[in-house]
Amino acid sequence: MNVFDSERISDSLSNIGIRKVRKPEWSDLIILNTCHIREKAAEKVYSELGRFKKIKKENPEIKIGVIGCVAQAEGQEIIRRAEIVDMVLGPQVYHRLPKIIKRIQEGERIVDTDFPIEDKFEKLVQSNNAKRPPVSFLTVQEGCDKFCSFCVVPYTRGVEVSRSPEVLIKESQILVASGVRELTLLGQNVNAYQARSETGDNFDLAILIKEICLIKDLKRLRFVTSHPKDMTDNLIQLFAEEKKLMPYLHLPVQSGSDKVLKDMNRGHTVRTYIDIIEKLRKIRPDIAISSDFIVGFPGETEEDFSLTLDLCDKIRYAQAYSFKYSPRVGTPAYERTNLPEEVKVSRLARLQKKINLHQTQFQMNLIETIQEILIEKRGKFSNQYIGRSPYMNPVVITSAKDMIGKIIKVRIRNSNGLSLSGEAVT
Ligand code: SAH
Ligand code: SF4
Repeated sequence: MNVFDSERISDSLSNIGIRKVRKPEWSDLIILNTCHIREKAAEKVYSELGRFKKIKKENPEIKIGVIGCVAQAEGQEIIRRAEIVDMVLGPQVYHRLPKIIKRIQEGERIVDTDFPIEDKFEKLVQSNNAKRPPVSFLTVQEGCDKFCSFCVVPYTRGVEVSRSPEVLIKESQILVASGVRELTLLGQNVNAYQARSETGDNFDLAILIKEICLIKDLKRLRFVTSHPKDMTDNLIQLFAEEKKLMPYLHLPVQSGSDKVLKDMNRGHTVRTYIDIIEKLRKIRPDIAISSDFIVGFPGETEEDFSLTLDLCDKIRYAQAYSFKYSPRVGTPAYERTNLPEEVKVSRLARLQKKINLHQTQFQMNLIETIQEILIEKRGKFSNQYIGRSPYMNPVVITSAKDMIGKIIKVRIRNSNGLSLSGEAVT
């Protein structure tokens, strides 16, 4: 989501003559887009600002802004801690940037962490003559009403808001017209998408996907991140019906223990989660499932943790992200007793070992099969191209012809654990 926000901001600022440069040293405005989800991410902001301090010393005219969720959460505190910062902007006010940039150029220091009701993306104008890479994101929903007890998102991104379906269809058309072939619809709870069109029709995510898939030159569609509570039967059914919807679903479970899920206030059980996966596999047996996990949540016992390992054995994820629990100020879990670091480290290592094993097995199963690969970019070596399988695996191929943006049939030959390689078949 931050990548999408950054792209949209730079797209929109290019309309007022601001252009991207490759090094902060060459610029006269640095905007740092930040993430607050775990402590490590938030800490990075201050180490980056330390680096920028030297740049500002060399060039006192340079303006520095901190935007995103750290800006939202820390506001004024950032200006207090880092005097080189000229503006602090929360994620809902990016459309005010052109005016704010003008004001900081005149010497003001600005903190804006408002939650206005307007859709910032409608004002962050998407340029419609740009040539874009074949794979792109599109934010359709933002914010979260779920309040998991460990999570800062409801506080930094605000309540769930869905963007207008007409606007999203229009923006998708513009993206496809400028070269996009695969679109990933984004939202903190993307499957909670609910909006009414101007003509009064109710749109959920399944309906929105069907409409966007009507765009002829769009070849593939994905969506991320889904919550188990909002995984409706209509949406599940789409994996059987909609050819452009790729057989890959990121559905975070966080833990395999019902007790921990309850303490996390996740609003689903292990059983209801497994039921969703079983329904999906019944109608789309090859679907690749991915998840997020948190280990070492306050109160998680060794037995709770072993239930997470058991769940992994049951689901056999094609890939997954796993994190040590990170206490976040202002969340309910922050008040609870944090487990010792060594317990978290050991559990994370054991979980990741299992996830990696399953990931490797998923990849090995693709060897000698023929897969349709959408080529996204050039590889490191000449004539090398990198694309993705329908299941999201990166695939490396060699070709003398420029393949970017094309979907080609590839016989998978090898896996190195991270990516696959293969050769085009005619
Ligand atoms: N809305 C999505 C997740 C958004 S945050 C969902 O509910 O699944 C992305 C991931 O960061 C979460 O799935 C979780 O695994 C992780 N995460 C969030 N807060 C965390 C914390 N305090 N400590 C460790 N991991 C966290
Ligand atoms: Fe955070 Fe839970 Fe909302 Fe996901 S559903 S963004 S984990 S509060």
